[in-house]
Parts: sequence; structure tokens; C-alpha cells
Amino acid sequence: MPLDNINKKIGLFGGTFNPIHYGHLRTAAEIAETFALDKIIFIPSYTPPLKKTDIAPPSDRFEMVKLAIHDNPIFEVSDIEYHQNQCPSYTLHTVEQFKKLYQNSKIYFTIGIDAFLDIHLWYQPDILLKEVEFIVIIRPPYLHNDIKRSKYIKNQTNLNTKTNEIPLINGHYINLVNVTQLNISSTDIRKKLKNGQSIKYLLPESVELFIIRKLLYKGDS
Ligand code: ATP
Repeated sequence: MPLDNINKKIGLFGGTFNPIHYGHLRTAAEIAETFALDKIIFIPSYTPPLKKTDIAPPSDRFEMVKLAIHDNPIFEVSDIEYHQNQCPSYTLHTVEQFKKLYQNSKIYFTIGIDAFLDIHLWYQPDILLKEVEFIVIIRPPYLHNDIKRSKYIKNQTNLNTKTNEIPLINGHYINLVNVTQLNISSTDIRKKLKNGQSIKYLLPESVELFIIRKLLYKGDS
């Protein structure tokens, strides 16, 4: 095992990244700062189990992440899911592989509150919530209190907005955090492209040029 991989604080950031945008990038930067992470690893999914339409090929989504993060030394992109070549890819397996890769390290998994509220639909969520500590980002239109909608949050939890740590029914906890809210979504970017509208300033220019060159998101699928 490379010494570089021991005793680290690693943030995993999974998503479709279809395409990656400044909402993702700014969130990752703030999380890295808040949790003093050594690395944030973006993990584009192979085929997202819950999203099946209008998806750019995994290799293109991977390339776009690569372009977007190239100037940040603590950002990395992993092909672990898209090279699995299995459909669908499961977060639990991804986390297990990273735990092997980074021993004696603290691994966090970062997702938006929208995604966290769907976690009961994921593969073996009970095990996943024990395997890794979640950083959950508050993202419009959701508010701090909406986390209570998750059945994994301990009943009668006093949601004091001053603390990030929210207890789970399994005895573990999640970190519920505020970041600078950029109301940007990949869905909106794809919609704009379909309507022939500009996507300038919503995502890095290198990603915009890649989308134009590869004619991505022009049709329905
Ligand atoms: P889509 O609009 O296609 O659903 P998305 O913009 O939500 O995509 P994903 O690739 O699904 O992007 O996002 C990966 C993770 O990043 C998710 O956990 C999502 O909640 C979070 N995320 C996406 N956009 C933002 C944003 N603007 N601010 C904070 N978190 C975000």
C-alpha cells in the first residue's frame, strides 16, 4: 500500500455528473475546507440506477469531470464505477473498495439532501450507513428540517441548526451541512441545451466546449 494512502481524510463525491457544474465544484471545495480533507474524489456513476434518460456516455461524463477539476490539486476523479462495466453500480461496493485502498483513513461520502432522502431506494442502505460517514449537503428547495423525512434519522431528534451531527437510528450519525447555495442543476443545464439557450457561467468553460464539440444533450436520449 502506498504510504500516501494511509491516515488520510478522504471525501468521496458520487453522482451522475451529467454534466458536472459549479454547484458540484463549489460544494466539493467547501466540504474539503470544512472537514480538512486531504482529497475529494469525484466518482461518476456508470449507469445511475434511478436515472435512465438523457444520459451522456460514462466516458464523456468522466472526461467532463476531469476537465472541470484539473486545476485543483486535491480534487481527483475515479473511474472505479464506470470501469466496473456492470450495470447498475452500487455505492456500497464503491465504498468498500475505497476503504481497502485507503487504510487507517477516514472516509466520508458526500451527497445532496435530495439524494440522501432517496437512500432507502439504494442497494443495502442499512449496511452502507454503517460503512461510511455521510456528509449531506442542504440544497434548495430542501431545508435543514427536511432531513427528518428520512426514516434513518433517529426519532425526536432535536434539529439544532448549530450542530452538523444528526443521529441515525443505527447509532451512527450524518453530518448535515450548509454550503454556499448555487441553485444549479444538471437537469436545468440539459434543458437549456435542448432549448438552444446559453449555459455560460453555470459550469467551467472547458466542459461547455466539450459538450458543444461532442454534441451532447441535444436529443431526448
Ligand atoms: P440532475 O439535475 O441530473 O439530477 P444534479 O445536478 O443533481 O443532477 P448529480 O450528478 O445528480 O447532479 O449530483 C451529484 C451530487 O451532487 C448529488 O448528491 C446532488 O445532490 C449534489 N448536487 C448537485 N447539484 C448541487 C448543487 N447545486 N449544490 C449542492 N449539491 C449539489
